[in-house]
Amino acid sequence: MEMKVFNSLTRRVEPLTPLADNTIRLYTCGPTVYNFAHIGNFRAYAFEDVLRRVVQFNGMKIRQVMNLTDVDDKTIRGANAAGVPLTDYTKTYKDAFFADLKKLNIQPAEVYPAATDHIPEMIDLVSKLIEKGVAYKSEDGSVYFAVRKFPGYGKLAHIDFDHQQTGARCAADEYDKENVGDFALWKAWEDSDGPVGWDSPWGRGRPGWHIECSAMSMKYLGETFDLHTGGIDNLFPHHENEIAQAEAATGKEFVRTWMHCAHLRVNGEKMSKSAGNFFTLRDLLEKGYAGREIRYVLVNAHYRQGLNFAFSALDDARKSLERIDRCVDALQRLAGSNGPVGDTPEFATQALESFSAAVNDDLNTPKAFAALFELVREANGALATLTPAQAAAVLAVFQRMDTVLGVIFFGKAVVAEVPAEIQALLDKRAAARKAKDWAESDRLRDEIAAAGWSVKDSRDGQTVTRK
Ligand SMILES: [Zn+2]
Repeated sequence: MEMKVFNSLTRRVEPLTPLADNTIRLYTCGPTVYNFAHIGNFRAYAFEDVLRRVVQFNGMKIRQVMNLTDVDDKTIRGANAAGVPLTDYTKTYKDAFFADLKKLNIQPAEVYPAATDHIPEMIDLVSKLIEKGVAYKSEDGSVYFAVRKFPGYGKLAHIDFDHQQTGARCAADEYDKENVGDFALWKAWEDSDGPVGWDSPWGRGRPGWHIECSAMSMKYLGETFDLHTGGIDNLFPHHENEIAQAEAATGKEFVRTWMHCAHLRVNGEKMSKSAGNFFTLRDLLEKGYAGREIRYVLVNAHYRQGLNFAFSALDDARKSLERIDRCVDALQRLAGSNGPVGDTPEFATQALESFSAAVNDDLNTPKAFAALFELVREANGALATLTPAQAAAVLAVFQRMDTVLGVIFFGKAVVAEVPAEIQALLDKRAAARKAKDWAESDRLRDEIAAAGWSVKDSRDGQTVTRK
């Protein structure tokens, strides 16, 4: 089946086919490692994870490069305020970032280049832009890209220059469309940079943020590659500037397809520290939510739709996952371990077809989840009639879907998530039933029920579910 995605450059849904080697070459803008990443950042990384998983689901290979911005306005400010070297300051947040990705079951990228390891590549690219006459050195030793010299400037953000007041120059890494102007490729050293700086043909200084991604993406993926993604905030100016830098230097198309994911809001509001609704992943884990519950909420919404993150959604995710777990658990009991895998029942084949159609239609994850729950419903209804080999085949369909979604537990009984105190009551009850003490067994069932769990008995013993 053909995979189609919405291309921000053409503003159309188009087939995604690899330029070479059956491999999609993907560049994803990574974190600026000056703080712990927040849940809005992880929305973008979770979207990119689903994207790479769908590429693989379709039998294509993926080569993903995600940069680590470890030198920019924010990291320098943080390191100098903390009074530690820049590399020490950013290392803490790099390590934290990788730990967080694991918690969310996000597949690692193939390459994680750090900006400070690629300063020579950036200097080369800036030199090339000066040679081509699209960049110039200013009186203070900084180098700027002259946007008026590059005719394609504005094609991603669809900026209409004729109706735009363009500012003269902008040194800051981030700015809005009202301040379109020549942007910094290389920033001359200033007092506030402290010990941070590198020597260059234009004197001591540091790269601008945008040049980093052009230099590193082309180094690892080639001058023209398949796909580049990021949050919608990155579209302008960052991605617009990446295109200008790369295409002005090479004279070739930089990236064929651009994809952007929409904003995340918390309880309907823009996330901000002052509003008290700013959450890092760590904050949510500390509140007792599991990584896969958070992942479920992040990937359940369509990536181009705004996502309103609320605690009620996390609670709903927990219930939905329990429903899936119970079904998978029952199928595993029926299939046994290492038993034969039979023909896939028609309902499971159909669910998988709906699922494939959904993920290939611009990553329609809400529809993909609907197909998964249709499978849960049908499988639950068929449990009494499925043979062990058919149960194994249905399980294989769940596994195939989970190569994209990454939220299902396999090989673990539902009881694995039961809190210790409930488990202790279950153990006592199992002992009572073994001793045929039915009064005590019933009393314990009521005690477990009062704590919010319901217990059922079957040939295989007790199963417990959250009420
Ligand atoms: Zn970038």
